[in-house]
Formats: sequence, C-alpha cells, structure tokens
Amino acid sequence: MANSKYEYVRQFETVDKIIPNTWLVVRIDGRGFHRFSQQHAFDKPNDRRAIDLMNRCAVEVMKDIKDITMAYGQSDEYSFVLPKSSNLYARRASKISSTIVSMFAANYVMRWSEYFGNVTLQYPPCFDSRVVCYPSDQNLRDYLSWRQADCHINNLYNTTFWAIVHSGKTETQAEEDLRGTFSKDKHEILFTQHDINYNNIEQIYRKGSFIIRQKTKVTSISPNTGEPVERIKLIPTPLHIDIIGDAFWTEHPDLLK
Ligand code: ATP
Ligand code: ATP
Ligand code: MG
Ligand code: MG
Repeated sequence: MANSKYEYVRQFETVDKIIPNTWLVVRIDGRGFHRFSQQHAFDKPNDRRAIDLMNRCAVEVMKDIKDITMAYGQSDEYSFVLPKSSNLYARRASKISSTIVSMFAANYVMRWSEYFGNVTLQYPPCFDSRVVCYPSDQNLRDYLSWRQADCHINNLYNTTFWAIVHSGKTETQAEEDLRGTFSKDKHEILFTQHDINYNNIEQIYRKGSFIIRQKTKVTSISPNTGEPVERIKLIPTPLHIDIIGDAFWTEHPDLLK
C-alpha cells in the first residue's frame, strides 16, 4: 500500500539506531528456564544435552550472521558480540536483537531432537533479548568477564547444592547448608563430604562456552572433478577457556580490532 493515505503512520516508528563505533552485545536469555529444565527433566546441576544444544544454536546464528565475531554462553543465556565497525541493519537495535533471538529460538526447536532424542518438547521455548553497546575494548572485556564470573559463581553453587541433594538431603536442607558460605567453604564441602575436586570438573561447566571463528581444514568433493578438495574455512567453534585473564586476548589480538 505504498503512498496510501495510511502511510503516514510510519512516522510513529521511532529510530533506535545505536551510536557508531561502539561494541554491540546482544544477550538472549531463556524465559522461565528453571521450569523448562524441570519439565524436560534436565540433569542437575548441568545437563550436557542442553548445553550442546545452546552451543549448536549459537553456532548456527554465527554461520548465518557473519557480522558476529564472538559469542559467550552459559546456562540459558548467550551473548553475541558485533564489532565497532558493524553496520548490520544500519545498527538498528530492535532489528539486530529480534533477528538474532528469533533465529536462535527457531534453531532450538528445530534441532531439539538431535540432542534430546525421544524426549518430547513439551511447549515452545522462548527467549528474551536486549542490545547493549560498550564504548571501549576494556568495557567489552569486562562485560565478558562479568558473564564468565557469573557462570563460575552459579556453577560452584549449583554443583555443591546438587551434590548435597544427591547425597540424600532435601533441597531446603541443601539451601540451609549453603546459606552464608564463601567460595572456599563450597570447595571444602565438595572435597571433604562428596569427594569432588571442583577444579577437576569439566571446563565446559566451569568456564561456559566461548565461540570464535577458527581456521579449520574442511574437505569437500569438487563438483567438477569428483575429487576431494581441502580448504581452510573459518568455522564458529566453541571453546571452554578462561576469557577473564589476559592470556587468551594476547593470543587472539584480532578479536579486539
Ligand atoms: P527468567 O525468565 O527470568 O530468565 P529463568 O527461570 O530462566 O527465569 P535464569 O536465571 O535465566 O532463570 O536461570 C536459568 C535456569 O535454567 C537455571 O537456574 C537452571 O535451573 C536452568 N538451566 C539452564 N541450563 C541448564 C542446564 N544445561 N542444565 C540444567 N539446568 C539448566
Ligand atoms: P526483509 O528481511 O527485509 O523483511 P523480506 O523478503 O522478508 O525482507 P518483506 O517486505 O518482509 O520482505 O516481504 C515478505 C515477502 O514474503 C513478500 O514479498 C512475499 O514475497 C513473501 N510472502 C510472505 N507471505 C507470503 C504468503 N503468504 N504467500 C506468498 N508469499 C508470501
Ligand atoms: Mg532465563
Ligand atoms: Mg539465565
């Protein structure tokens, strides 16, 4: 209905362009995933299938939206980072945010059975989304550190909580046992009462997942010759590493360009 008498209503749309030359972060988070994880009988504290599915969805989003240079995920959340120079959707916040979150959710449903096999999806999962911009490289690193520190704090708590519950106490008792404890107390409870050395728990649970585009050798069959051809491609790859310290960033200086 171009140029109809109704077209004026377009003027009511507000411009939500993000200022230029700032890092963009889109963080999505599962809506009511505490309940969702119960309804689908997730293993506690960490259901590996759910983490692998989250990572798969993030990889698919990155394959589709090339502007995203890195992503960090833990629990039911994922943060997608776009560089300062990105001009995706002319930097319109709601376009960027809504496209990423709907692509993520659609992948979650579409690929559910690849990870959960015969477990029936009981109801449609839903994610919220927001865009935040960070002016400096340090702000961006602090943001990512904040999410990874959150992963660590929650995972240490949850690991201890579920160790207590699995040893036969009620959830209320476990909560009481942990009230007012510090990090070192939880390490101690895990080690002395449950024979768990927290530092030996798989990195994927302690560090979350950080996806970057890594040079990967891929083999494909040439349509012309029918022969296998090797090429180097940039493939989004989840890593389970520390991103708080300087070491990772010194090794990957291009990421902060
Ligand atoms: P909101 O809608 O406000 O985000 P929420 O119920 O999703 O509420 P969150 O703080 O986002 O609450 O926490 C997500 C919850 O999802 C965790 O507390 C945990 O119970 C559950 N969860 C997410 N991923 C996993 C997993 N891989 N294994 C087990 N439980 C998980
Ligand atoms: P953008 O990503 O910018 O939104 P778009 O390709 O989605 O691009 P739209 O302006 O949103 O473009 O138009 C949607 C297009 O989808 C229509 O032009 C039409 O070709 C197609 N389409 C949508 N619904 C139907 C339908 N029910 N039957 C046939 N075609 C449809
Ligand atoms: Mg949530
Ligand atoms: Mg969450």
